[in-house]
Amino acid sequence: PNSFERHRYDVIVVGAGGAGLRAAIAAHDAGAKVAIICKSLLGKAHTVMAEGGIAAAMGNVWSEDNWKVHFRDTMRGGKMLNHWRMAQLHAQESANRVHELEEWGALFDRTAEGLISQRDFGGHRYARLAHVGDRTGLELIRTLQQRAVALGIDVFMECTVTKLFRDDEQRISGAFAYWRESGRFIVFDAPAVVLATGGIGKSYKVTSNSWEYTGDGHALALDSGASLVNMEFVQFHPTGMVWPPSVKGILVTESVRGDGGVLRNSEGRRFMFDYIPEYFKAETADTEEEADRWYDDKSNNRRPPELLPRDEVARAINAEVKAGRGSPHGGVFLDIASRRSTEYIERRLPSMHHQFKELADVDITAEAMEVGPTCHYVMGGVAVDADTAESVVPGLYAAGEVAGGMHGSNRLGGNSLSDLLVFGRRAGEHAAHGATEREQRAPVSDDDIRAAAEAALAPFEQDGGENPYTLQHELQDVMHSLVGIIRQASEMEKALEEIARLKERAAKLTVEGHRQYNPGWHLALDIRNMLRVSECIALAALERTESRGGHTRDDFPTTDDSWATVNLHCIADGDSVAIRHEQLPAMPDELRELFQET
Ligand code: FAD
Repeated sequence: PNSFERHRYDVIVVGAGGAGLRAAIAAHDAGAKVAIICKSLLGKAHTVMAEGGIAAAMGNVWSEDNWKVHFRDTMRGGKMLNHWRMAQLHAQESANRVHELEEWGALFDRTAEGLISQRDFGGHRYARLAHVGDRTGLELIRTLQQRAVALGIDVFMECTVTKLFRDDEQRISGAFAYWRESGRFIVFDAPAVVLATGGIGKSYKVTSNSWEYTGDGHALALDSGASLVNMEFVQFHPTGMVWPPSVKGILVTESVRGDGGVLRNSEGRRFMFDYIPEYFKAETADTEEEADRWYDDKSNNRRPPELLPRDEVARAINAEVKAGRGSPHGGVFLDIASRRSTEYIERRLPSMHHQFKELADVDITAEAMEVGPTCHYVMGGVAVDADTAESVVPGLYAAGEVAGGMHGSNRLGGNSLSDLLVFGRRAGEHAAHGATEREQRAPVSDDDIRAAAEAALAPFEQDGGENPYTLQHELQDVMHSLVGIIRQASEMEKALEEIARLKERAAKLTVEGHRQYNPGWHLALDIRNMLRVSECIALAALERTESRGGHTRDDFPTTDDSWATVNLHCIADGDSVAIRHEQLPAMPDELRELFQET
């Protein structure tokens, strides 16, 4: 039963989202023998869900735009915690990556002059997002996937990696995986691995993320000796669906508010006016009349408070629900029905109309939606070298959402898709060079393979009777209520105690049945990763005694300058996690000067 197939490659890429596909193409182009491994079907990676667009300073709509402005916006958005060199490379290279996609067949929306069109998004000074309607991610994946397949890159799909191997010198030597359908094992011998596994949203009860986001890459990296940086920074989008339970967390686009939708509590009050922070007072309308005039006359009126930055709106919704003024299913009301005509809503928001009709039996042209904050994106991830995307473990690379540093404490919309392309390419290219330069490659040892197989089969052997679904729900509850959008020390300490208890129980997980397609077994393996990642988030969040970007503390509500240059790194300490403080690398003067201009 423990027989396995075995393959040799120069580079294996774990993940087939934008980052993984771009990395595989780059590694192939650099002469490496490459395989892509992904746990869902090719074309189904999370990237496919991205709507808004790819941020790139192409200057097509505003000729004033250039990489320096994009760099500055990105650093400011991340409250200056971003790794400056990553933000610089990202800003400099994203326009070329978009043009390249077009050469490979992507069909972008155009300006009247025939250039690639760019749209406005929060935090970007100029209209900057290259897009294809509201299905940019689909076009990006389609284009990269077609190219990868045309190049003949091998793809192992519905195949989950559970372990990375290292040789005696602690360099990467391969990976262990299983076919989800048959449960049979696969061993890959490879001197370079690119992690492109995406995010961690499934550790939270309410998330816009798909089932795949169990933080596998984060945990694989940690267990291989790499560090995770910025794990305390998790982005909550203010408006996700809250009802029915099966669709809770699914994203409700910001455009609903942009097009006139307002937030109300159970008393019918348009409560965002109660939550305008000092910092934004000058630019935010303070009466409903002014806010409503803004939609037609933006020059003489200030913005409605519903369009404050995501973290502000999410916090306000959270406070209303906590104060007992929430909607029946624990959110608040997002109302566009009473404010815009049916015809307008159907024309401007067709996919939202469809989404609510199909999933919640709610007609958004006639009634309000129930919405609440949803876990959307993790800024934290594998700490890598900015230029090569290599971690401290030789041969281990990371790109895309699984990598950390690029976005600091908060990511701007659109900056993920560009991140995937810029650093996916860099990771693939450098992995290929690293692999082909390495002459001595010891095959993965039999002992290591045996240990990996035993670990994977453990849930069949254990008889503690713990159920993986119960454990997952409990973990999601803990993270949602104790390490969520608003945090405080006592709750996070409690979360860490709960996580410790869940870890003990995870050792007693028991699954029934066989290895043939067995979702309970898959989840039992995923839970280890979810617990590891959750511990990192809770520990780092407890350690950072300030509020900044995606990290908000009730007990330390303001930003603290003494934290402005400190990154927290999580490292494995046996089965636990330890935290290390590291100073941010100093930014060169020519970049620092960009922040002196107004
Ligand atoms: P993914 O696309 O998630 O791919 C991860 C891959 O890893 C998958 O193929 C998965 O199967 C594989 N994998 C994971 N674990 C394993 C394992 N153990 N073994 C094997 N394979 C594994 N960003 C923007 O910039 N602009 C937008 O407009 C935008 N809109 C968004 C809308 C929604 C609804 C959501 C949820 C997010 C949006 N984002 C947007 C964020 C962006 O989509 C993601 O951050 C990005 O797509 C992540 O890409 P990735 O390549 O890192 O990972």
